[in-house]
Amino acid sequence: MEKIQMKTPLVEMDGDEMTRILWKLIKQILLEPYIDLKTDYYDLGLKHRDETEDKVTVDAAEATKKYGVGVKCATITPNSARMKEYNLHQMWKSPNGTIRAILDGTVFRAPVLVKGVTPFIPTWKRPITIARHAYGDLYKNVELSVPAGAKAELVVTDKDGKETRRTIHDFDGAGIVQGLHNLDGSIASFAQACFNYALATHQDLWFAAKDTISKIYDHRFKDIFQEIYEKEYQKKFEKAGITYFYTLIDDAVARVIRSNGGFIWACKNYDGDVMSDMVATAFGSLAMMTSVLVSPTGEYEYEAAHGTVQRHYYKYLKGEPTSTNSIATLFAWTGALRKRGELDCLPNLMSFAGKLEKAAIQTIEDGIMTGDMYRLSTLRNKKKVGTEEFLQEINVHLQELLQA
Ligand code: NAD
Repeated sequence: MEKIQMKTPLVEMDGDEMTRILWKLIKQILLEPYIDLKTDYYDLGLKHRDETEDKVTVDAAEATKKYGVGVKCATITPNSARMKEYNLHQMWKSPNGTIRAILDGTVFRAPVLVKGVTPFIPTWKRPITIARHAYGDLYKNVELSVPAGAKAELVVTDKDGKETRRTIHDFDGAGIVQGLHNLDGSIASFAQACFNYALATHQDLWFAAKDTISKIYDHRFKDIFQEIYEKEYQKKFEKAGITYFYTLIDDAVARVIRSNGGFIWACKNYDGDVMSDMVATAFGSLAMMTSVLVSPTGEYEYEAAHGTVQRHYYKYLKGEPTSTNSIATLFAWTGALRKRGELDCLPNLMSFAGKLEKAAIQTIEDGIMTGDMYRLSTLRNKKKVGTEEFLQEINVHLQELLQA
């Protein structure tokens, strides 16, 4: 069989620990035999980030801006234990944070569903994609403890020195106070990324906040979404047969629970933080959560939602058998390849990505799976396999699909 040709390179960001092992195996077993893989490679492994003083992360993000599509392996975000373990020069920032800041992107997370693993909400038949606004609110707060007898005020000083004041509270007893902010530009970028992603994936978009209580702050989010929708997207949505609607966050929660899935739920920063973990848990395993960062100007960076699976890596280093689930990492590759195919008009590449995803799902539905899924699956004839064996089994299914 002739290998599929690519036109533009994918920006490939290698990573750390067990996911770095998965990365190599996925390429060797499932990609390189079928595709003449063209990538612009960046090693974001912690050792190399340290050697380049983290320049490699910035270069990889810039390359993603240049080429439009990247695929990233999970990476270690250093803490003090990692400083010692890797003898680091500095506690480098989270690569995901750096890339997100450069691309000004929004993260969309969605689970891969398989038969045999029923979500905790059994009516959820299709994935629910969570889009989380990644700027401001609680995550850039300023807070203080307040002693009894104090008065807390909100003061905004404009560029000419004019002050606007509001009393927050006159404290009879001791208490606490915090200030939050957000930016119109960031909210608009978030809204645009959500509308674009809804069109690209052909799904309805829901956005929810608490504008009845927060009449200026949350209301601003609602208004910016609505303005951008009416100006730039309404016609496109109508043509695509999808809808956008705003509702209160409490109403959204009730609707999500009663829904069948199959839509994008855009959340403010804190709501997205909490709800994405709830949705991931309710759907089953973290190892089945995919993630894509979408910039407002249409660049895409695909990855797994999980980390580097450190515990499995230490077992691997000791030569012990491992059973690490490669689905989310594999779907990062298929998502990126499909998008590359779409942008470069390469139907063969798009079709290959679809078949590879199908082969992976069929493998699990045929009862062959890694330990995490084995614990969850209700299939009768299920078998737990090792990390590499799972990929070899997917390859068997893939070959059948490619020959069909
Ligand atoms: P983790 O996602 O690696 O693991 C969390 C739990 O889920 C563990 O019990 C793990 O065994 C299980 N798990 C996750 N993925 C799995 C898979 N593919 N197969 C089987 N089980 C799986 O998160 P952690 O342990 O909190 O962090 C480990 C490292 O990953 C840290 O250094 C952290 O900085 C990094 N991290 C990176 C990213 C990223 O690059 N996007 C995200 C989260 C954590």
